[in-house]
Amino acid sequence: MPDVTPKASHFIDGNYVEDTDGAVIEVVYPATGKTIAQVHSATSNIVEMAIASGLKAQEIWSQTSPVERGRVLRRAADMIRERNRELSILETLDTGKPLQETLVADATSGADALEYFGGLAASLTGEYIPLGDDFVYTMREPLGLCVGIGAWNYPTQIACWKAAPALCCGNSVIFKPSEVTPLCALKIAEILIEAGLPRGCYNVVQGYGDVGGALVTDPRVAKVSLTGSVPTGRKVYAAAGAGVKHVTMELGGKSPLIIFDDADIENAISGAMLANMYSSGQVCSNGTRVFVHKNIKDKFCERFAERSAAIRIGDPLDEETHMGPVVNEEQLEKVLGYIEIGKKEGARLICGGNRIADKDGFFVEPTAFADVTDDMTIAREEIFGPVMSILDFEDEQEVIARANDTEFGLSGGVFTQDITRAHRVVAQLHAGTCWINTYNLAPVEAPFGGSKSSGVGRENSKAAIEHYSELKSVYVAMTPVESAY
Ligand code: NDP
Repeated sequence: MPDVTPKASHFIDGNYVEDTDGAVIEVVYPATGKTIAQVHSATSNIVEMAIASGLKAQEIWSQTSPVERGRVLRRAADMIRERNRELSILETLDTGKPLQETLVADATSGADALEYFGGLAASLTGEYIPLGDDFVYTMREPLGLCVGIGAWNYPTQIACWKAAPALCCGNSVIFKPSEVTPLCALKIAEILIEAGLPRGCYNVVQGYGDVGGALVTDPRVAKVSLTGSVPTGRKVYAAAGAGVKHVTMELGGKSPLIIFDDADIENAISGAMLANMYSSGQVCSNGTRVFVHKNIKDKFCERFAERSAAIRIGDPLDEETHMGPVVNEEQLEKVLGYIEIGKKEGARLICGGNRIADKDGFFVEPTAFADVTDDMTIAREEIFGPVMSILDFEDEQEVIARANDTEFGLSGGVFTQDITRAHRVVAQLHAGTCWINTYNLAPVEAPFGGSKSSGVGRENSKAAIEHYSELKSVYVAMTPVESAY
């Protein structure tokens, strides 16, 4: 086991900083349940240092030429790719996700974001608006100091997805990782500074929700971007709203995946597996309500159970392992609780359903329930574990209405060979991100985010620029002012 103890808990103004007065945060490796490092929650002194440094640095960074800003981000992307294995191992130790996944989905995705926004930085321009003699021009300006608050499921990716567009536009960032996974963002901060980012442009402070709260309510903070659950989103949005701050909210979901009877069934099962078992099911956009046409339901259930049995569960650091534990004991209890509720409410277990008791860590079997109905708790609430619900349907309009009957609106997917039906169905899904004949791919080129309670704003793509900058209009008069008095 590599020593992953960071030099200190926080990274501010280009340096590791410690204040042991802050509450201890134990970093637990989910595959063993053992503590592998400790950090301290930020005290008010640490928060103040981070804010002061971020404000000062933002003045310098916003004056740095866009082409140079882009170069720094692209250099950081290259460095992340060079250090992919080391960063992936850290991600695995922080989250318990298997190395087989983290090698391809975490630091690499973060590098993509830095590369993409590095490429965009120099092309952000304003507009010239002719008005006869007079004219208006617009300037795209950074917002200032942005706060990013992360969930624990993708700590490296979330740190980068927030840093890249923010820095591209000339903002500075303070990132607060989830206290469950505090390690990865510190490495990203180190790399950004090594790549040439001015000190203070990307600070990391550790802490529980109260630290996030202190950052969100500080009047010097211009923007808040949260990745987290809907209940936390409501609180953070309200706190940011009180200060009329810009927000991006990437929140939870209970997304539908609709499988028609003409779909390639093995491909659809691959999609459903990806949509429920990847990262032990701890993915916000997961398609956890799998609507399967009644004509193929039995075959689907039978093959899903067979293929689930082939999932290799175990040591996340072994590259042959497909699936690791869930992130911590609390999440384990939550997931097992939902499995019990599923059984009690009459859903039929077709595979899994238990904790894997012969392992020390927080392992749960890949679990699927059939005969789930729309009103069951497991079909309504976000479980955030490897638990899939299979619901039957017969009619297209019926399934669309049922798919949309939820407060969430993050994602949705459809498997069918009928091209017109595929487009017709996704057009009617109330969701920010949809897939046809695949699931959960989130390339940086495409906007990502939710509708309804699942969020506000979009990450990635050119759309993210709108959420990290604002326009200034400048009216230019070419003739004297006309004044009647
Ligand atoms: P939480 O909502 O519990 O926490 C998210 C972050 O917010 C944490 O860093 C947390 O700190 C912090 N926080 C909590 N309360 C406050 C507060 N009052 N003010 C400021 N910050 C606060 O989410 P989880 O970490 O449990 O992550 C799982 C959730 O994230 C799921 O619902 C999932 O769907 C969602 N998610 C959404 C994604 C998307 O892009 N839409 C992507 C990934 C996950 P602390 O942990 O210390 O309490």
